[in-house]
Amino acid sequence: MFGWNDYFQHIEFVVGLGNRIRFWQDKWCGDRALLDRFPTLYACSSHREVTIDSVLIRPNAGGLCEWNVTFGRDFNDWEIDLVVEFFQLLASNTPSNEGPDGLRWKGRKDGIFTSRSFYHVLNVRLGVPFPWKVIWAAKAPPRVSFFIWTATWRKILNCDNLMRRGYTMVSRCCLCCSNGETVDHLLLHCPVLHMLWKLSFLFVPC
Ligand SMILES: [Zn+2]
Repeated sequence: MFGWNDYFQHIEFVVGLGNRIRFWQDKWCGDRALLDRFPTLYACSSHREVTIDSVLIRPNAGGLCEWNVTFGRDFNDWEIDLVVEFFQLLASNTPSNEGPDGLRWKGRKDGIFTSRSFYHVLNVRLGVPFPWKVIWAAKAPPRVSFFIWTATWRKILNCDNLMRRGYTMVSRCCLCCSNGETVDHLLLHCPVLHMLWKLSFLFVPC
């Protein structure tokens, strides 16, 4: 799904009660899930599909929380360092908050998701900044800007896109009656349109 991976990479779980966050699979202590960071330990854990609250013992009054993660076998000497690292990481990320679990958006300092900050995240990933100024700040009617914006994302209702939406039709260019009517053909490569572009540029002042 377009954008989902980018969204998911920029959120982090804020642990409260821990009853809605998966202990091994979700990223709640650092940039990686425990499953990815300690695959050996995950493979021999007794309970792989547990939430955080299932493996965290909270004392009744004021004491320290304890982790109760169990494994299906004893560890070998060469695995001890890994186990120590695992429990040190847990100790340094023991939740103290007992509110509801939540999500934090890393695209903003205040952690609140906005479509604007998500747009910025997507733009950075693409490497080439989206030419929004050329489109939305141009001296053109809004409907023209909207069309250019839609065409830039290849979402205009040309034959190819209509067929993707389930319409039964022949993908033929309405101008030159040949080739498939892709967005690139319709707006860039069509020979008829090419002539129109050349003519229109004759009237553009240098
Ligand atoms: Zn054509």
